[in-house]
Amino acid sequence: MSSLFRSLPSVDACLRWLKADFPSTPHSVLLESCRAVLDELREDIRSGRVTDESALSPEAVRPRLHGVVEKKDRPRFCRVINGAGVVVHTNLGRSVLAREAQEAVRIAASGYSNLEFDLETGERGSRTSLVEELLCSLTGAEAALVVNNNAAAVLLMLDTLCKGGEVILSRGQLVEIGGSFRIPDVMERSGATLREVGTTNRTHLADYERALSENTRAVLWVHPSNYRIIGFHSSVPADELANFAHAHDLPMLEDLGSGSLMDFSRWGLHDEPTVSEVLRQGTDVVTFSGDKVLGGPQAGIIVGKKVYLDKMKKNQLLRALRCDKLTLSALEATLRLYRDPETARRAIPTVRRMSMDAGTLKARAESLQNLLAGELEGLATCSLKDDFSRVGGGSFPEQGMPTTLVCVHPAGCSAVQLKMRLLSTEPPLVGRLGEFGFELDPRTMDDEEFPDVARVLKEALNKAKA
Ligand SMILES: *Cc1c(COP(=O)(O)O)cnc(C)c1O
Repeated sequence: MSSLFRSLPSVDACLRWLKADFPSTPHSVLLESCRAVLDELREDIRSGRVTDESALSPEAVRPRLHGVVEKKDRPRFCRVINGAGVVVHTNLGRSVLAREAQEAVRIAASGYSNLEFDLETGERGSRTSLVEELLCSLTGAEAALVVNNNAAAVLLMLDTLCKGGEVILSRGQLVEIGGSFRIPDVMERSGATLREVGTTNRTHLADYERALSENTRAVLWVHPSNYRIIGFHSSVPADELANFAHAHDLPMLEDLGSGSLMDFSRWGLHDEPTVSEVLRQGTDVVTFSGDKVLGGPQAGIIVGKKVYLDKMKKNQLLRALRCDKLTLSALEATLRLYRDPETARRAIPTVRRMSMDAGTLKARAESLQNLLAGELEGLATCSLKDDFSRVGGGSFPEQGMPTTLVCVHPAGCSAVQLKMRLLSTEPPLVGRLGEFGFELDPRTMDDEEFPDVARVLKEALNKAKA
């Protein structure tokens, strides 16, 4: 064993090889890679996995070093192809920005800007005023404010309007949303006390009435997002609840979650009121996400009555929750597209994907199937299957959107193995595991991505065969 240890190449020798093979990679990365590989080899000798010197020769060690350097030097953040058919996929970065928003980000990132500079007076301006006017005109709200995400929006709203007091909420809306956003926890952070009323499945106006006290600061409505109560249940309609709140001089607040500026019922998606509808029902302050159904960057948008928004704008907490210039530029560009609904539908990827009709999807699935049939000959067969895509992000949870999936049936490995192989292709491809194969939904992929889909599938299937 000790002679094996002596046969290990030195750090210097390894570094010399790597410097020749990777002339532009930083020294620190090469050194870390050498140490990592030599540590592994020492462990292999100690545990008896390496028993002869051939495993320690330059011919054996050099490829191993290469693999480690390539992996270490690759950026960790990378593009992923979403073939899973979940449009607002939180794990895959939610919304893809419209070209106009991408361009706005590029401009904001590459030069100085009027982020907090008023171009009319030449003096200090306010960063959120840049999108406030647009938000008001698109939603009919008196005032608007933008923060880092919807969780921050809810926190700021409760901290500003309810701290030290009580907020009444139906038990039917006491939900946890993916990524562990829990209303009771956010409430606790804000220093407000939750007054739960009703039961999980039924809450009546009388329940709210009984919960009123001199400490009550607001009535809260939380969109249940990815959760629905089915069967014997009842809740107080939002407009009735708003009237009730106003009769007691309380604001009605709503965490809307997804927050759409567009009515999707035209495309068979019902059940989600638009932001302007919610405001028309009498809700005083509404919060929602920028990167869910809206299709913009991660942001928390707050719209509603000016008296309440003015208080939030003065809250010191806002300083910690404010969003950056890249977000604001992308959000403004996205909102500008909504000034014309048809433009928004065509230009914003999230909206375009949600409104894509079944016929178009079927034709696109067929074209992907044809491409794959040619490229993957002998490696896999492909078939089509009618199924449903999902909106994701907690929106329209029970409503699938009809689609046609392309099912890949690998010849030399299982669908599970194929799925795992596709995690390390460039770019990685995420799909669904179906009953009979690995399934891809054209709704969440662009036609321009199809050649990449074929290439990485071929690569993964060939590797699986080897
Ligand atoms: C998604 C969601 C949130 C969290 O929003 P983020 O933008 O992810 O912070 C909060 N409340 C509801 C009802 C949601 O659907």
